[in-house]
Amino acid sequence: MTADGFDELQTAASRHLWGHFTRLGNFQREPMPIITHGEGNYVFDQHGHRLLDGLSGLFTVQVGHGRHELAEVATKQAATLAYFPIWSFGHEPAIRLAARLAELAPGDLNRVFFTTGGGEAVESAWKLAIQYFAAIGQPQRRKVISRHYAYHGTTFGALSITGVPAIKNPWEPLVPGAVKVMNTNAYRRPEGHDPLEAADDIEARILMEGPDTVACVVLEPVQNTGGALVPPPGYFERVREICDRYGVLLVSDEVICAFGRLGHWFGCERFGYQPDMIVFAKGVTSGYAPLGGVIVSDRLAAPFLEDDRVFLHGLTFGGHPVSCAVALANIDLMERDDLPGNVLRNEAVFDDVMARIAELPIVGDVRGCGYFRVAELVKDKATKTTFDDDECEWLLRGVLSPALYKAGLFCRADDRADPVVVLSPPLTCGTDELQFIGDTLVDACTAAWEQFQSR
Ligand code: PLP
Repeated sequence: MTADGFDELQTAASRHLWGHFTRLGNFQREPMPIITHGEGNYVFDQHGHRLLDGLSGLFTVQVGHGRHELAEVATKQAATLAYFPIWSFGHEPAIRLAARLAELAPGDLNRVFFTTGGGEAVESAWKLAIQYFAAIGQPQRRKVISRHYAYHGTTFGALSITGVPAIKNPWEPLVPGAVKVMNTNAYRRPEGHDPLEAADDIEARILMEGPDTVACVVLEPVQNTGGALVPPPGYFERVREICDRYGVLLVSDEVICAFGRLGHWFGCERFGYQPDMIVFAKGVTSGYAPLGGVIVSDRLAAPFLEDDRVFLHGLTFGGHPVSCAVALANIDLMERDDLPGNVLRNEAVFDDVMARIAELPIVGDVRGCGYFRVAELVKDKATKTTFDDDECEWLLRGVLSPALYKAGLFCRADDRADPVVVLSPPLTCGTDELQFIGDTLVDACTAAWEQFQSR
């Protein structure tokens, strides 16, 4: 496309495109960056500027960009059967993908309810828990427990489960019965705290709400918002015990953590727990088509196999044939190239990269595992003092993000909780890309710190 063509696109964007979580006003004053194409671990903007996709788009593009084999599968499926609903009908891609996911998922997670994305899947899991309990004679179990600052989506039900105050408050009152507990942010807890206090907080909350009113607990294996919060050893074992003690279901929200992100097909495998439902989206198709869903245990599905009972929930595009065909091909590709294995093999390299970043004066903590990491930024390392809102604005949006972009690294500076730089590169990245991420972040953070001090 010519420069004039991009000018025209940017004018149209400023007039017509409503970007998600986007300050539209910015693009009345300056042109919106346009990403034109992707190749492997990189994307390119309208100037031909190459960026390492350090966030896999949005925790999504596990197999990297420009995979023609996935595009071809999509084309073929669209030509064969572009669309048919899975409302009392089946089609081959949805059936085969459901069976494949059941095979990959641990334990008796054998039944798949498809959606088009993650938030819908989270909300479906909550509704399914409620209807399951009603079916087995416990209709009072409707509440859901999740963690402070966890992000689980933005539709009203999913947003109620989300624990990020800034994006919830404008919409209150939300769906009742969604309550919050501690997350596992050890960096912000006092020295010597009980590492399993966050698990015990779930029990305290169940008791406070009344155990027979709680349907499910929704947790990510590694919590994204708050900054790649890895559970302490024993956390999920304790959570599973607590859920079993009170008859509460455990839902693993793996919208980010599944499909190799933590080096396994599912994040729960990394931490050795068996959920009652797994919520997935994003990486299931590597973003080549939209898809999400819930993988449900046989026990929960059982009442729905009886009589004429129906799960009273559905979506036109849930289990879309093109998305399911792409997901199957994506999983084949990940298996063929052993991408979860690639993550595990490079984990020590990523650890070293993060250790280097941790040395910087502006970095208070580094966290995460697999190909999912953060560096938390502080203005005083000794006291762990964080930046205030104005400083965050200046530092993250004014200085760091533009510097990283210019240096050829796309990643996310996130201050929905304490400010962090989030890294979640394609699972196809190797040592060279991880070292580039390290070098670029060290340079950009060092320069930003110097600018902050001389401000
Ligand atoms: N759950 C988690 C853990 C997520 O990270 C996200 C999105 O980032 C969602 C749910 C919502 O997914 P979607 O944006 O596809 O609705």
